[in-house]
Amino acid sequence: MEDNQLPLFMESGIYKLNSNVFFIDPVRILNRSYTRFRVSPSAYYSRFFDSSNSTQSPKASEDSRKRKRKRKQKKKPQSLNEREQIADRRHQKVKPLLLKAHEVLLEATDLLKVLRNLRNDGCAVGECKELSQESSELSFMELGGVWQAPLYEIVLNYQRDDKMFQNGGSTLAQSIEQRVALVFNNLVANEGSCDIEAELFNHKYIIPKRSCFCMSDLRQIDSLIPADSDCGFNLIVIDPPWENGSAHQKLRYPTLPNRYFLSLPVKQLCHTSGALVALWVTNREKLRGFVENDLFPKWGVTYAASFYWLKVKANGMMTGELDLIHHRPYECLLLGYCDGKDTHSRNLTILNLIPDNQVVISVPGDYSRKPPIGDLLLDYVPGSRPARCIELFAREMIAGWSSWGNEPLHFQDSRYFVIQ
Ligand code: SAM
Repeated sequence: MEDNQLPLFMESGIYKLNSNVFFIDPVRILNRSYTRFRVSPSAYYSRFFDSSNSTQSPKASEDSRKRKRKRKQKKKPQSLNEREQIADRRHQKVKPLLLKAHEVLLEATDLLKVLRNLRNDGCAVGECKELSQESSELSFMELGGVWQAPLYEIVLNYQRDDKMFQNGGSTLAQSIEQRVALVFNNLVANEGSCDIEAELFNHKYIIPKRSCFCMSDLRQIDSLIPADSDCGFNLIVIDPPWENGSAHQKLRYPTLPNRYFLSLPVKQLCHTSGALVALWVTNREKLRGFVENDLFPKWGVTYAASFYWLKVKANGMMTGELDLIHHRPYECLLLGYCDGKDTHSRNLTILNLIPDNQVVISVPGDYSRKPPIGDLLLDYVPGSRPARCIELFAREMIAGWSSWGNEPLHFQDSRYFVIQ
């Protein structure tokens, strides 16, 4: 492990613990997309920081986990059905990898100290101003579902610095230039090198520099397909609303049956020089089988590697028991390549062989919010630089990326930002 990781982490939000384990701070990574505004750490880290457990030392916490594990072991073991047995075998295979990664994190004492304070980072008391006074969030699904939706507009406020010449000298005066765009089923872009504030129904949204979004339902996704595949994407991150008990229970967003994802136009979104496709999957065995046997083949994606996202709390301990079947403290990102029209694209992907079993550790944000892993994938993305990146079913925006979904502005709400 390199010694200078902490200063690098403070800048980049990425701490390389060893060749296949990384700790990341999503807030630091996301903040690289903004110039005037900052992602509020206390809004991002709304969970896993305020429980009494999070102030426990890793040692005390590990002791209490051992006690819990013992209690559980005393219970009669449940018999697993065939599918659960396959899932268990898969889990047993990755478990040593995750335990090792976690051990490496617990050894990084400098990082653990910083981790404990991630939620209070960046803004000393009185230095940062909350942006939002609104008590409610807009529901884009409700708005997008009414007949007036195609007429709704978003106002983009570009802040401009104008040079004023007066009495032989010059001063800078700020002015706002407003542009208006249809908010649904339309590609809305901020091509500038500064973030901007946008307004929609008295709510404010912060749009990163050099980013764009398209807010539509899956039925309209074809409007994303570029006329020319030279304008397609080299990195396609997909986090589908998979059906699963907990998403249904909490009703945070609607889910869709697996077969709907077969029609995602991944191949048509792919750049001429090919694309790396990164798909978030849940730990359900039925889903894994569907992805391997149906989804990837239908999309024209060849499986290449798996990454794991290990979730930890502020005290560095995992967010749950590794062996708890329905609440595993990790999720999996399946990676594969989609060939572009360019015949050389296959060679390109082979040149940058993607490593298997990389572990990314972070403290989770809001429910189902995935960490921004784009930077960790860029070395394996085919094509020229800067890579063209898109996230499907996105709830946030990132500089240099296109975001598509039925609520890509969700985490752009000014309530998740502060200004210094
Ligand atoms: N990656 C996101 C994040 O990190 O916050 C989470 C994505 S979440 C798993 C799935 C998203 O798909 C939700 O925002 C949901 O509203 C959206 N979605 C559900 N049904 C959709 C549809 N028919 N068309 C477009 N998006 C849909």
